[in-house]
Amino acid sequence: MAPRKKPFIAGNWKMHTTRAEARALVGEIVRASRALAEAEFVVIPPYTALAEAAETIAGSPVALGGQNLFWEDKGAYTGEISGPMLADAGCDFVLVGHSERRQDFGETDETVKKRIAAALRSRLRPIVCIGETLAERESGRTWDILGTQMAGGLDGLDEASFRRIVLAYEPVWAIGTGRTATPAQAEETQAFIRRQLEDKYGKEASSCAIILYGGSVKPANAYALFRERNIDGFLVGGASLEAASFIEIAAEAIKAFKEVK
Ligand code: PEP
Repeated sequence: MAPRKKPFIAGNWKMHTTRAEARALVGEIVRASRALAEAEFVVIPPYTALAEAAETIAGSPVALGGQNLFWEDKGAYTGEISGPMLADAGCDFVLVGHSERRQDFGETDETVKKRIAAALRSRLRPIVCIGETLAERESGRTWDILGTQMAGGLDGLDEASFRRIVLAYEPVWAIGTGRTATPAQAEETQAFIRRQLEDKYGKEASSCAIILYGGSVKPANAYALFRERNIDGFLVGGASLEAASFIEIAAEAIKAFKEVK
């Protein structure tokens, strides 16, 4: 059975916040994080606000992430951002394969794999997103889809590199829709993901893996979700844009963590 880990709470701000808004939001999260030491926090602002966020988190336990990266380190790739640039901007993490990138920007398992390699080259920890659409779930293809996404994205990744990544199960039908997976649905799927990882990397490495749940996480559902054994934290979209709800999600997860150690 996977040991309980400190709740890992990441906020994906997507294409929101000016620099001033980002500074204010991170400031509130930093202040609250001091009283919530049992959680790990990552904020993932837009690129334009990374500098403000990096300044504001300095000396705090809050970590910084980028929303995407290109697989080359530099070159003639107008509009792209590289791993070395994100590391230089103060990032420790980077999202890879978010469903919005897969659906709207042509991300594939092959490009996910290349971005994971690029992130690791720059000592960034990739937060790798996987998840099925509603049609895929309803046609009984969830396990196939997740299995394929994992096999493709993690293809060739050795165990030491695997230990640097964070996985995020994000059912596409739950992202930004207000429709959350039930705790039982999320747990069933996350347990499946961990079993797949166990087949590939062994029991110890898979039980240490951080597997997040994402999809309409809110203060009202965070406690019940985090009580599930295979949910190690959350990737939060909409509710991370308000400090109060993001912090309350962390507080709810900590409450569940203390109860179900
Ligand atoms: C996300 O974008 O990763 C996400 C989970 O969004 P939301 O929380 O708004 O569903």
